[in-house]
Amino acid sequence: MINLFVQTDKEGIILKCSPSTTQILGYKPHELIGRNVRTLWFDKKEHDFTKEIYLKNPKPTKNAEARFIHKNGDFLWLKFNTSPRFTEDGIYIGSDTIAMDITKQKEMEKTLLLYKNVIENTNEGIMITNSKNQIVYTNEAFSKITKYCLGEVMGKNPNILKSGLHDKRFYKKMWDDIDSKGFWAGEIWNRHKDDGIFPELLTINTIKNKKGDVENYIAIFTDISDLKKGEAEIRHMAMHDSLTNLPNRNMLSEILTHSIKSAKRQNELMALMFIDLDNFKLINDNYGHKKGDSVLIEAAKRLKLALREEDVVCRFGGDEFIVLLEHINSSKDAAKVAQKINQAIKAPFQTDDHSFYLSCSIGIALYPLDANDMEELIKNADAAMYQAKSNGKNRYSFYSLELSKKISKELSLENILRQSIEKNNFILYYQPKFSIKNSKIVGIEALVRWQSDKFGFMGPNEFIPIAEKTGLIIPMGNWILKRACLDIKEWHEKGLYYGDISVNVSGVQLEDENFSKTLKEILKTTKINPELLKLEITETTLMGDISQWQNKLEEIRKLGIDISIDDFGTGYSSLSYLAKLPVDELKIDKSFIDDIPKDKDACVIVKAIINLAKSLGCKTVAEGVENNTQKEFLKINGCDIIQGYLYSKPVPKKELEKLFV
Ligand code: C2E
Ligand code: MG
Ligand code: MG
Repeated sequence: MINLFVQTDKEGIILKCSPSTTQILGYKPHELIGRNVRTLWFDKKEHDFTKEIYLKNPKPTKNAEARFIHKNGDFLWLKFNTSPRFTEDGIYIGSDTIAMDITKQKEMEKTLLLYKNVIENTNEGIMITNSKNQIVYTNEAFSKITKYCLGEVMGKNPNILKSGLHDKRFYKKMWDDIDSKGFWAGEIWNRHKDDGIFPELLTINTIKNKKGDVENYIAIFTDISDLKKGEAEIRHMAMHDSLTNLPNRNMLSEILTHSIKSAKRQNELMALMFIDLDNFKLINDNYGHKKGDSVLIEAAKRLKLALREEDVVCRFGGDEFIVLLEHINSSKDAAKVAQKINQAIKAPFQTDDHSFYLSCSIGIALYPLDANDMEELIKNADAAMYQAKSNGKNRYSFYSLELSKKISKELSLENILRQSIEKNNFILYYQPKFSIKNSKIVGIEALVRWQSDKFGFMGPNEFIPIAEKTGLIIPMGNWILKRACLDIKEWHEKGLYYGDISVNVSGVQLEDENFSKTLKEILKTTKINPELLKLEITETTLMGDISQWQNKLEEIRKLGIDISIDDFGTGYSSLSYLAKLPVDELKIDKSFIDDIPKDKDACVIVKAIINLAKSLGCKTVAEGVENNTQKEFLKINGCDIIQGYLYSKPVPKKELEKLFV
């Protein structure tokens, strides 16, 4: 390190200086001599202030620091010692100064200060340990996160922060990485001073000396509790149904994948139940989605209550739930739970202003007996649920071999049905309707039959549901309508019969946007008077969004076609609902006719329907009339028309023609 020497008089005028000034300040000595030293100070005010004090009390100064101006205009830091010079009489006459350039050191100090500030002010916890892994430094954020101050941890091993959540292998892998790669990064759970644990994102780096020995480890970490909470919330949302807070399909599939594996490994039996609320749609449609939602929430609660803690219940969609029972001993266990669920759902659902009575149909499939994988297990439980529904709802049904045969029959039915539609392998049977007063034919209902090479002669209940499910009902329904129109036209032309003809139409046909266009076309091509055609639509089809049906039916009515509501009494139509629909005829459902006159409730309902029809200005038809007692009851109570085996079964066209005479 080079020093410079400067001698000044008491005013600060430079009298002498060493040649080294050239190296340090850029000036040659002769350029400085005679100049006031003040002109070299960078902070002139500081010079003046120092000088003022100095003049009052000149005494040696040690290690003072100040900035000076280099000849090139830059500033530099000098550290200097000044000794005053006095005459023998003690009068101050000037001073001698020895200085050295400390600019580099100053810059280093500044940088270090900056680092210190950064380290102290960062939100990341920083902990530095020595080669023995003893803590030698921690920053503010470390204390904020861990609740330990530096004094408490100084000299200690960082394992005071261990959460106990990770096993030895975890730490071994971490240290292996640090040793081999020089760093480790990952998520780790640590413990606060107050015992709570928290997740952190941690990086550990090693600092080595020139020889390559580790001198320090630097751990930098952030508390990621909030991030984890957010992640957990997002995961919860993705995996749960927002309405009932039950696990959703995604979660079910995760759980099932896992439980199927473990059942397989441990040779255990498990049951999957597919639960569907019966007629739930009616609540939604008639009382609104809010009520429907609260019923679903309550149903979810009841399902949970009916199950053990470890059983899984999830919302599969709409009004469908899935329950998973692991580790069961036999199908009996599942049956018991199903009974409990049926019971639980049967209790009335109470909302602010309504009580609802619901039931549910449950399909049960067992793993590994009924399925090889998750998809098959759900599919088979679903099929068993449909079985329970068609057995009369409010019950459970096990998946069985017969059911699987039925399903494969349905599949092959579907294929053959498709071909039959192309070949028109259908036949229309006709069942006449009779006036209750004079027993004359007043109408004819077309009922479709199917003659299949493989399955023989089949009634509509066997294939219409499949046709509806597959959409085949549209081309099939069009054929039926056209055939019926052509037949009625023929009878009229031959003078055999002058009444109208009723054709059953499915909800799927009605919902098809082209339906009225098709009707128009059929009327046009067959050239029949639209008044001869009546469409029978079942009451349950017409539930739900009233305005949608109102528009549909009015469109049909505008074409001149009549509308009859079939199987009336099985839905929940109210007078106010019906009054909004353009209806010409109500057909009392056969189930009520079966029970009259013995069953009082059935009698009351039949009478009420007849009165309802009267107040709406509609005719009433009683379907499925099989004996005279029924006929008499209906006659006394004012029913207009009867249809049933008492007079005639549905018959082929040629046989019907014999009845016209
Ligand atoms: P639906 O329209 O209510 O027809 C009445 C059903 O009861 C007919 O059964 C008929 O044969 C039967 N039936 C009539 N009188 C009696 C009786 O006195 N005793 C008994 N035990 N049964 C009687 P079918 O022909 O099997 O039709 C069943 C249902 O299939 C029909 O019920 C209707 O909803 C549907 N269907 C029939 N033909 C068609 C069609 O062309 N298109 C559509 N979409 N559905 C049809
Ligand atoms: Mg009908
Ligand atoms: Mg009917």
